[in-house]
Amino acid sequence: MVLCPECDTDLDVQEDEVDEGEVISCPECGTDFEVITTSPLELKAVEAGYEEEEALEEESEDGDYS
Ligand SMILES: [Zn+2]
Repeated sequence: MVLCPECDTDLDVQEDEVDEGEVISCPECGTDFEVITTSPLELKAVEAGYEEEEALEEESEDGDYS
């Protein structure tokens, strides 16, 4: 059993079912992890910053208007 390093959710990944370099996603927090080694299974969070960037402008209320 492999737990998500971010949120401790069971990622339901078997060591013998993944290959080095494979990327798996946590269904709970959505973080992507790359398989660094398979024995023991070691994961590394994939750098985000592409595609998932949400615009912060939609709710940029200053609060100074009445
Ligand atoms: Zn997670």
